[in-house]
Amino acid sequence: MSVIIGSYVYSTCQRAEADYTTLMSDIVLAQQATPQLQAAIKEGTRQPNDQQLEYIAYFISLSKQYLNGIQNTIEQHQFLSSGVKHLNNNFSELEERLIRLDRQVLAAQNRPELISPLQQEVTDVGENQAGLYNTLLNEVHTISQQQRLAVQRLSIAVSVLLVLVVSAAITLFMAVLHLHRQRNHMHQLMLTDELTGLYNRRHLVDVAFAALTQAKRSKAPLSLLLLDIDHFKRINDTYGHPVGDEVLRQISGRLRHLSRPSDTLARIGGEEFCLLMPNTSTLDALQAADRLRREIENMTLNGIAISSPTVSIGVTTGNGGAHTFEQLYSFADTALYQAKAHGRNRVESLLPPIAQSPEKAYAPQLIRQHSDL
Ligand code: GH3
Ligand code: MG
Ligand code: MG
Repeated sequence: MSVIIGSYVYSTCQRAEADYTTLMSDIVLAQQATPQLQAAIKEGTRQPNDQQLEYIAYFISLSKQYLNGIQNTIEQHQFLSSGVKHLNNNFSELEERLIRLDRQVLAAQNRPELISPLQQEVTDVGENQAGLYNTLLNEVHTISQQQRLAVQRLSIAVSVLLVLVVSAAITLFMAVLHLHRQRNHMHQLMLTDELTGLYNRRHLVDVAFAALTQAKRSKAPLSLLLLDIDHFKRINDTYGHPVGDEVLRQISGRLRHLSRPSDTLARIGGEEFCLLMPNTSTLDALQAADRLRREIENMTLNGIAISSPTVSIGVTTGNGGAHTFEQLYSFADTALYQAKAHGRNRVESLLPPIAQSPEKAYAPQLIRQHSDL
């Protein structure tokens, strides 16, 4: 848009300048007709014959042509014609005098004695013509300067306006971008845990709700893993809270790296994590859990001169979305409690009662899964 407006202003400047230049050169040409006419009448007085009369008539008609041409050009420009309106009477007077002179030259044909008296009249008309064109030239010059100045001011104003519009647009765009980023950041903060960058419990519950709905529709299994770092309090007590934080960060990073993209990993408590595994059977979940347990056990902590703590894991599986998240969480938590009770650094599972056989529902099946799966 700025390029279009800029080029428009530039072309307006150029056009205004070019038009007046043409007019001014026409005026200069018209001025030259005066000495030519005077020279012709002088020659006619010296040698009064028809050929000299034709010359005189020719220069009179040339003067009239210039006059009409200049008047037409002025009329085409509103700004200019109103600027030189006060010269209209002078134009008419010069035109009348030229017409009268033309008639007198016509009358002098075959009467050479009438040529000489025309000399004074030609001198008067010439002076009148020269004076008028001088005045006109000055006026056009002044008006063209004024107009150029006005166009320059206009172009400056348009440029300033453009700069303001562009700056306003950029500011608006930056503000919208900033708001958008802030909104995304806020959204991210709402979903994630600040220390580890993992999802938080709130997001896990939302994802679990959608995953259970999907599991119900597709009658697929959904497994839930609860991981708790063993004796984590000792790390804090021995090495300090900041070291504990770093251990939490590094273990979180490792768990995230090891979990599948289709699973959802969240930090749901101080040193407690949950992994939601859609479309995953108990056996697969147990294998995955034990792999995580071993990976953490063998992990080397960066920049901390202590060996990695171990984790205990409780596993459960819901089938076809028959249980709520809270129910599955409760089974996994019981299994985790069992893992802790049986010595830590191990995986235990507890399956929910099978919905079709109510009598079995009161006898939850506890599956102990040893670390060497
Ligand atoms: P267990 O094996 O039975 O799980 O023992 P534990 O010490 O890991 O469990 P406990 O519940 O006794 O202690 C958990 C500790 O985790 C206590 C708490 O100070 C620490 N903790 C919780 N959140 C954070 C945290 O954000 N940063 C750090 N450094 N420590 C945390
Ligand atoms: Mg713990
Ligand atoms: Mg705990």
